Amino acid sequence: MGKLFIILLALVLLPASGMYGGEGDEQKSEFGIVVHGGAGGISRDGYTPEQDAAYREALSEALRAGYEILRNGGSSVDAVEAAITIMEDDSLFNAGRGAVFTAEGKNELDASIMDGSTLNAGAVAGVTRVKNPITLARLVMDESRHVMFAREGAEVFGEQHGIETVPEDYFFTERRWRTLQRRQEREAAEESGGTVGAAALDKNGNLAAGTSTGGMTNKRFGRIGDSPVIGAGTYANNKTCAVSATGHGEYFIRSVVTYDISAKMEYKGMSLHDAAHRVVMEKLPDLGGHGGIISIDKHGNVAMPFTTGGMHRGYILDDGEIVVKLYGDE
Ligand code: ASP
Repeated sequence: MGKLFIILLALVLLPASGMYGGEGDEQKSEFGIVVHGGAGGISRDGYTPEQDAAYREALSEALRAGYEILRNGGSSVDAVEAAITIMEDDSLFNAGRGAVFTAEGKNELDASIMDGSTLNAGAVAGVTRVKNPITLARLVMDESRHVMFAREGAEVFGEQHGIETVPEDYFFTERRWRTLQRRQEREAAEESGGTVGAAALDKNGNLAAGTSTGGMTNKRFGRIGDSPVIGAGTYANNKTCAVSATGHGEYFIRSVVTYDISAKMEYKGMSLHDAAHRVVMEKLPDLGGHGGIISIDKHGNVAMPFTTGGMHRGYILDDGEIVVKLYGDE
């Protein structure tokens, strides 16, 4: 009788051990990509209809680029890099071309990428002449024996591998310059907004994530945020999920946000939704930090929690339907 009870108990409990909460083990989507274009005080009243449309179109374009790669059997790493490159080239976002200014009026860019199938990763910090920092991060991952390069060392490594460099004034945009002036006049705290990121699942079940940013307006020169820090701004692991973060970087580093989400899934068996909400909506604010994350798990579930007024975000799954949202109320 005792034995039978144990066998019955095992039958009930075993299937649950591999399950991520309510989301279950069924495949929601064969492949998919989710992107963000930064979290912050984004509100319906703060955008003109033209700005609203421009952000939605830019996010859709990034999603379409990633989707095409995934649909044709390409890798999640390629999809992530392609989606982020598009947003880096668009001055709407605080990454690549539209990067914000440091207190000294310069642009210092950070980026990272991670391949969840190998746990290999590449990151660059404080680069000033690289057109697409995400591509340099990818080069670090693929072509070097290191994970992270900073400043001139990153640029020299990139040049040796044919990375495209630009004069520093390529990153001068009127809008970000005015933001710096306003910030300095008010001597207000540093502000973020417009960082970009992507996380993808490909047809082979491989997950990848990447993040790229100019950092925070009025940051001290030499300051490095969470975006190039693996486990804070970016994390991917085929066993669990792929995550990219945006928000006040210091808090994301201290909370090890993206790794913590993966760890909660791996060690506690939590669903992506529950793990992401616990970290972003509870743990991070408890420390005083705000922002959001985008994520996709190995089953194609998507989670995009944030604590700010809004977050530029969107996803596309194997049904090909683009979903893009900007504000707290969509
Ligand atoms: N997390 C970025 C940083 O702290 C900024 C942002 O996401 O807006 O550098």
